[in-house]
Amino acid sequence: MRSLLLWMARNTWLRRNLPRLWFARRAVRRFMPGEDAGSALAAGVQFQIEGIGQLYTRLGENLTRIDEADEVAAHYRGVLDEIRERHLDGEISVKLTQLGFDLDVERTFQHASSLAAQAAESGKTFWIDMEGSDYTESTIAFYERMKASQPNVGICLQAYLRRTAADIQRLLPLMPEIRLVKGAYAEPATIAYRSRHDVDSNYVALCVSMLEAVRNGGTVRIGLGTHDVRIIEQVAEHATALGLPRTSFEVQMLYGIRMDQQRRLAGAGYVVRDLIAYGEAWYPWYMRRLAERPANVLFALRQIVG
Ligand SMILES: Cc1cc2nc3c(=O)[nH]c(=O)nc-3n(C[C@H](O)[C@H](O)[C@H](O)COP(=O)(O)OP(=O)(O)OC[C@H]3O[C@@H](n4cnc5c(N)ncnc54)[C@H](O)[C@@H]3O)c2cc1C
Repeated sequence: MRSLLLWMARNTWLRRNLPRLWFARRAVRRFMPGEDAGSALAAGVQFQIEGIGQLYTRLGENLTRIDEADEVAAHYRGVLDEIRERHLDGEISVKLTQLGFDLDVERTFQHASSLAAQAAESGKTFWIDMEGSDYTESTIAFYERMKASQPNVGICLQAYLRRTAADIQRLLPLMPEIRLVKGAYAEPATIAYRSRHDVDSNYVALCVSMLEAVRNGGTVRIGLGTHDVRIIEQVAEHATALGLPRTSFEVQMLYGIRMDQQRRLAGAGYVVRDLIAYGEAWYPWYMRRLAERPANVLFALRQIVG
């Protein structure tokens, strides 16, 4: 089921046609407050009241025309303005291919740098999402290049990749901001752990390596990008054992998933941030959410008939 859904996520015919269907638009509502930035920001205001920070991401990836990247960058400039004007504890998280990475790396760099500079004016971080493994090395190299002039940049790393332990060691001297996720793409066993047990064990081990770096005087902002509360609790126990407070890391979850836990953790003194996705280009992203939990397919079907 996971492979089928991930194949559907990549299929260009389905990507073009399925989102036109009314029932698909209805089903996706569970994972996003709306297709426009206004809906996302309105949801963010509610999170703010509950003490939950936000990450905003406009869905879209693998652009085919570079002028689309200019439009995407202009869009995010507007979102950053709104975040500042509304005094939101909000940051933006962007896919490099949404800024034209496949087409023009220098233009992508200019856009990313200017967005990071604007975010810095309000003391915020500009986050870079991680895409499939064809992009891992180039995204990390891009991050290193950005960090040389822009301290307020974060990157997502994936615990299912065997290389990530080395990538964390590589980035630690840069005082990085790292969101660790399990990983959402279909990757071969040669480069990725495939069993849940192996991915989860690696996830915890990678968190411990970052916490140890903090305990040893290093600077790393750690974001746990997971809904796996069991893992979050294990990491919290490791932090305590190392003499670090629970605020030594933050929990980042997706809009619409485990909202009860997001509120509970925020109430228990954890730093929690909700990633609010929005936009018209939701199809591949939504299919990856379905692939993560086959029960979501049943949920989607119930929405269609109900
Ligand atoms: C803030 C954030 C940013 C992310 N950014 C990236 C990125 O840049 N690149 C990337 O490859 N991946 C990214 N991901 C996705 C990530 O890689 C995983 O695919 C996703 O988070 C599911 O894994 P999990 O850690 O929640 O653990 P799982 O083991 O999949 O899930 C743990 C539990 O959480 C709940 N849960 C998880 N997913 C769902 C769902 N879709 N619907 C309902 N319940 C669910 C279930 O109760 C499940 O038992 C991001 C995730 C988050 C939270």
